[in-house]
Order: sequence, then structure tokens, then C-alpha cells
Amino acid sequence: MIRQRVKIFLAIPRLILTGRTNFGYCHVCRRKTIFLKTGDWLRDQYLCPICHSIPRQRALLRVLESEFPQWRDLRMHESSPCGPASEMIRRQCPGYLASQYFPDSPSGSNHDGVRCENLEKMSLNDGEFDLMITQDVFEHVLRPELAFSEISRILKPGGAHLFTVPLYQGRKTVTRAIAMPDGVKYLQEPVFHSNPVDDAGSLVITDWGDDLSDYIATVCGMETEIFSVNDASLGICGEFLEVFLSRKSTTSMESPS
Ligand SMILES: [Zn+2]
Repeated sequence: MIRQRVKIFLAIPRLILTGRTNFGYCHVCRRKTIFLKTGDWLRDQYLCPICHSIPRQRALLRVLESEFPQWRDLRMHESSPCGPASEMIRRQCPGYLASQYFPDSPSGSNHDGVRCENLEKMSLNDGEFDLMITQDVFEHVLRPELAFSEISRILKPGGAHLFTVPLYQGRKTVTRAIAMPDGVKYLQEPVFHSNPVDDAGSLVITDWGDDLSDYIATVCGMETEIFSVNDASLGICGEFLEVFLSRKSTTSMESPS
């Protein structure tokens, strides 16, 4: 990580000379910065050199700040935290709980000091949280209908799920793999994303499309708003940068499922 940071730092003069930088404000480190385009895939290669955030993390924090200005006082759960946005939230929110998914560890157990929670069957209480956060998790969940319902269950009435996930606009959702009694059945060519807690990576289960909001409403009753921003002055440019905010009804007593 240090070697990577030094490499990026040393690249700054070249990036300035080639016009691959711009000044702006970073919502993750909350500072004026100079954003660096270190490659053409801006989703992963448009960096803030101060906090090393990428665009989707800045987009998530922007929505968190605007929709929940009191977020530091909330009871919050994040599944599979990763990167500077998670770290910033953890540092500033006393009511923040982080969990990771380990297939062989039951929900609520401790895995080398990390709390384990399976999004499809969490050990957390009903109505325990104001806010749930997931960052690029839901394309990997095998039974997303269970996970969305579980999130609705652990949220208080009026609570919300703030998340990022790659959205394929102009397309319907494609299920790439399904759960079978004897394991996972591939319906499409297997695709894996990197996983900070598993060197084998994470299998992509779903390519979400335009029907994502309808799907969430159907499986758990939550209404979803989509935030799309393309703003270089905020370092939010690139591919798949939508932020989703699903709200639980203030009159909800329990998940409809
Ligand atoms: Zn930053």
C-alpha cells in the first residue's frame, strides 16, 4: 500500500503535464484536492491523492452528507467495509458496526476479530439500525431477495439502505448464477471481482439493470431513489457511479416478507 502511494505521488508531475488532473473537493477526506487520472478506467483510476478514494466512494459520501447530515449520530451497519470511505465513517460514527461475510462462520460469530454476518440471515435484532451501508456487495449476493428483506428487517421504521452496485442502464437484470442444493449453478460465464478477505475473489451473481428499484420494492417494500452525478469538481466521473438509497416506510412494523 505504501509503495502504491509513493508511486502515485511520484506520478503527479507527469499527470499534471499531460492534463490528467483537476482541482476539486473530495467528499471522503473533506478537503480541497487535486484529482488524478492514473488510467482510462476512471471508476478505479481517478484518485484523490490525499485519501486514495475512488469516484464511487466519493459519490456515496456525497449522498450520505446531503441526505443524512446527522449521520455521525446514527446507528449504522456496514457489510463488507472496504476502502477510505468505510474508514472515514468508522472513525467518525460511534454507532458504526462493521461486519464481513465468511461462508464457514455463522452470523454473529467472531472471525479473527471481525464480526461475521451473512446478509441473507443476519443475527442482528429487528429495527436495530438507522442506516445500512453496502458498497459493491449486491452483485455478489446469491439470494438477493433474502438480503434486501433482512436489511429491511434490521432497519428502524424510516431507516434506509445506502449502497452502490454496478447498474447496467438500458438493460434488464441478468442473473448470472443461482443457488442449488448442491452448490452454485452458473447461468452465464463466471466473472469474479477482487475480494479483500478472499484471494479467490467474489463471484458476480447479478448484473443489475433498470428493474432494480422495482425488484427491491417487490421483495421488501422499500422505495429506492437513484443519485447520478457526473462532476469533475467533486471527482465523481467514470463508469457505474450510481448511488442508491432505499428507504423503509416510517410506519413499517416489519418486513412484508
Ligand atoms: Zn480525498
